[in-house]
Amino acid sequence: MWPTLTLLAVVAVGTGFWAWRTSRFARRTESALRQELEELRRSRHLRLAEAEVKQQAVFNSMVEGLLILDEDGRVQFANPALSQLFSLPTEIRGRTLMETLRLHDLQTLSQRVLVEGRVTGVEIHLPSEPHRAIQVNAATVRDPDRALAGTIFVFHDVSRIKQLENVRKEFVANVSHELRTPLSLIKGYVETLLDGAKDDPAVATRFLRTIEKHADRLTFLIDDLLTISQLESGQVAFNIQALDLGDQAEQVLTELGGRGADKKVTVTNEVPPGLRIQADGDRLQQVLFNLVDNAIKYGHVGGHVRIGGRRLAEGAIEGWVSDDGPGIPPEAHTRVFERFYRVDRARSREQGGTGLGLSIVKHIIQSHGGEVSVESSPGQGSTFRFTLPEASPETETLRRASTPE
Ligand code: ADP
Repeated sequence: MWPTLTLLAVVAVGTGFWAWRTSRFARRTESALRQELEELRRSRHLRLAEAEVKQQAVFNSMVEGLLILDEDGRVQFANPALSQLFSLPTEIRGRTLMETLRLHDLQTLSQRVLVEGRVTGVEIHLPSEPHRAIQVNAATVRDPDRALAGTIFVFHDVSRIKQLENVRKEFVANVSHELRTPLSLIKGYVETLLDGAKDDPAVATRFLRTIEKHADRLTFLIDDLLTISQLESGQVAFNIQALDLGDQAEQVLTELGGRGADKKVTVTNEVPPGLRIQADGDRLQQVLFNLVDNAIKYGHVGGHVRIGGRRLAEGAIEGWVSDDGPGIPPEAHTRVFERFYRVDRARSREQGGTGLGLSIVKHIIQSHGGEVSVESSPGQGSTFRFTLPEASPETETLRRASTPE
């Protein structure tokens, strides 16, 4: 009897212990699993949050404007570039496209993208001042069941590209026109000579002189175009050194003296001694040459052209060329520095002008870090001013060291 009772007691205790251990193990496994799951969830959240921060940083740093609409066509997200481009208020979430941007072209585009799925390179124009051209790309976003989840719009401001394109087109049109005019005149004179005018020596000489004048004009034009192109492409290395403004003016006067004499124009160099500038000698000569040449060209017969200069307070030197000619109307003061702009087109052509002289002057002076301007009123003559950096003591020391005594 006792052994049976003992056996039963042992079995009962053993079973109880087993049950206790199993339930403890089960409890431990469940809590460990719960903890593991929690950690997983936390790290997933963390990863998602990290991804969102990165995405936000990308959207915020984008130059292009970004707009995301939800499946109902309401604003879900707009990046700072978009807000700036369209001057949007801070809170636009939940608004429709039309309420947000008020552009019919964009509304049409949003309907098109819903049908086509993706639309690229559509140009819209903002009725703003200054005029803005925006290129828009748009695409729908679909969930795995192909149901519409939203639409993404990317806006790229192409106003500057358009503007440069227009400048280039205008330049090509101007160059073609400027080249064609003397060429067709030359052709006309040659044809007339061949048709018999060559048999009259006086007429032939006159015609040949005219042909020579127009051929010269073509040469000047091509020279000026090459100069502009070299300056704009930054191909020319400037040989900057300390120079005396008065000496430079004197050299230009020697070169242009004959031209002044033809029109009985007196040209005087009034640059005070010791005005030392830091510049490229050849380019400075070109600046002075163009300004004095214009002053003689457009000035009166028997007029007076003066070249002067002074030291400005902030380490800069100002040079000027003035004349007592017919002057320039105020509305043309900034325009005369534009390529091919002339106040009097016929007069410029007659004088062999290319319309590029002052834009070359402006380019050279700006490349030296200076500025150009004109003061003039009709009938009162004109004064063209330019600034250049003053030669620094270091440049002067270098110059003295390299100049043989
Ligand atoms: P151009 O080859 O025609 O002289 P520029 O660029 O040198 O071209 O000058 C542009 C225009 O500015 C000239 O066509 C002329 O109408 C005007 N201009 C320039 N300098 C003078 C001046 N000293 N007096 C009057 N008009 C001037």
